[in-house]
Amino acid sequence: MIEYRNVRKEYGNGKEAVTAVRDISLQIKPGEVVVFLGPSGCGKTTMLRMTNKLEDISGGDILVDGKSIRELNPVQLRRSMGYVIQQIGLFPNKTIYENIAMIPRVLKWDKATIDERVDHLLKLVKLDPETYSSRYPAELSGGQQQRIGVARALAADPDILLMDEPFGAIDPINRDQIQDEFMRLQARLKKTIVFVSHDIHEAIKMADRIAIFKDGKIVQFDTPEMILTQP
Ligand code: ADP
Ligand code: ADP
Repeated sequence: MIEYRNVRKEYGNGKEAVTAVRDISLQIKPGEVVVFLGPSGCGKTTMLRMTNKLEDISGGDILVDGKSIRELNPVQLRRSMGYVIQQIGLFPNKTIYENIAMIPRVLKWDKATIDERVDHLLKLVKLDPETYSSRYPAELSGGQQQRIGVARALAADPDILLMDEPFGAIDPINRDQIQDEFMRLQARLKKTIVFVSHDIHEAIKMADRIAIFKDGKIVQFDTPEMILTQP
């Protein structure tokens, strides 16, 4: 479970200070897909980046399985949370195999275990390991690269996936299909997912619950059904 308690974030200080997140409290249940929905600049990415300690918290606290992340080592925390971003962030000079194997290597898994894991993950995201392991990111389409991004985030089998507009860079025709595939995958994996989006259709399609952001606050937190039936 992820629990946000009066979380606040300010960037800069004095006259230059920007308050990005204002006293957000929220509980996300295990296995739940929660979408942070709202226009650009309302604090969604900042919330996600505080969750894996890519940004410091200015006030309040975030608890993961009851433990304050303030007390957790950032490197260990990030291993327990896969992170998928719009820009994908694959290393262009590394093969698909090497990109996916990165965290398992840091964790010093043995070669046979890593081979097996990469093979399994590629199949999971519907890319043939024989064909794709040795290719470089630039040889893949945007949608295929995004699948690799998901495979890499899943490499060490984290309980939590943080995703920042993961399908934003994919053309609309393929996006719909990749969203469907991702939901089928999630039905099996049952990860806890926090997912940033500015697309209400995507949120309604994918979320168990939607947190609607406005100006650093959450103005509504409910199921898609409830959000659609309320004015
Ligand atoms: P998004 O709307 O998808 O969050 P942005 O273009 O706002 O994307 O931000 C992209 C990156 O730039 C993020 O890592 C964010 O932290 C950083 N960023 C956004 N606004 C500022 C700013 N005013 N000054 C410095 N960095 C910023
Ligand atoms: P969203 O993800 O909803 O687009 P962000 O969390 O990226 O929103 O940004 C929230 C606010 O914080 C914006 O006003 C943005 O300009 C500001 N901001 C984000 N990142 C930084 C940063 N690294 N430095 C300064 N301001 C930032």
